[in-house]
This record gives sequence, structure tokens and C-alpha cells, in this order.
Amino acid sequence: MSDATSSCLFCRILRGEIPSRKVYEDDYVYAFEDIDPKAPTHVLVIPKKHFSGLNHATGQDAELIGRCHLAAAEIARQRDIEKGYRTVLNVGPESGQSVFHLHVHLIGGRKLAWPPG
Ligand code: AMP
Ligand code: ZN
Repeated sequence: MSDATSSCLFCRILRGEIPSRKVYEDDYVYAFEDIDPKAPTHVLVIPKKHFSGLNHATGQDAELIGRCHLAAAEIARQRDIEKGYRTVLNVGPESGQSVFHLHVHLIGGRKLAWPPG
């Protein structure tokens, strides 16, 4: 196991070393409840392959990034929040990214302000 994946919080969640509240899983992605929800629905969707963020993604990651969004859309459908939700990728420390394993936030279930802060 590489240093990046051994210490990565979300790789540890994927390995079951840290508990999570699973929402969805397939061969490519895993989704779980955010521990500090900012809305009635706040789910994180992560690729099962580690990469640190959108700024380090390559063309080879295009399908996985798409699958994270499609999983978010499916969860939104299941939760009946389709009249308004947001998928968010924080990229880099100034965006608020705190976990450096790419993740899509699915936020919804309430009226969302625009633009985000
Ligand atoms: P970001 O700030 O975009 O990197 O998002 C990281 C998210 O991970 C935050 O919304 C945190 O609340 C969430 N988070 C941190 N630790 C855990 C955990 N153990 N289980 C679930 N969510 C977590
Ligand atoms: Zn990771």
C-alpha cells in the first residue's frame, strides 16, 4: 500500500478501518453520509481508486469522475430531492478541501443559496 492510501481518511473508510454510514456502492464508487452535514442530505461520493483531487485527475479518471456524479444523481432520485440539489467538488485548500481523496458532495433537501460562499 502506498503512503498516500495508507494514511488517507477516505481510503481508510473504503477499507472499513473507519466506520461510515453507507448510502450507495458499486464496483467503482462508494457513498456515505457526511459526518458534519450542511443540509438534510449531505452525502459524499468517492471513487474507489485514490486520487487527491480534480487538479490531479487525468483523462484516465474521466469515467470515474462521471460515475461519482451519476451516483449522486441516483441518490438524489432515491431521496426525492430532484427539485434542487448541488454536486460540489472542493479543489485545493482555499476552496475548503480538507480531505485529499477526490469526493463529490451531494447537498440538498433545502433551498440552496447562490453563489456559495
Ligand atoms: P472537503 O472539505 O471538501 O475536503 O470535504 C471533506 C468532508 O468530509 C467534510 O464535509 C467533512 O465533514 C467530511 N468528513 C470528515 N471526516 C469524515 C468521516 N469520518 N466520515 C464522514 N465524513 C467525514
Ligand atoms: Zn484515498
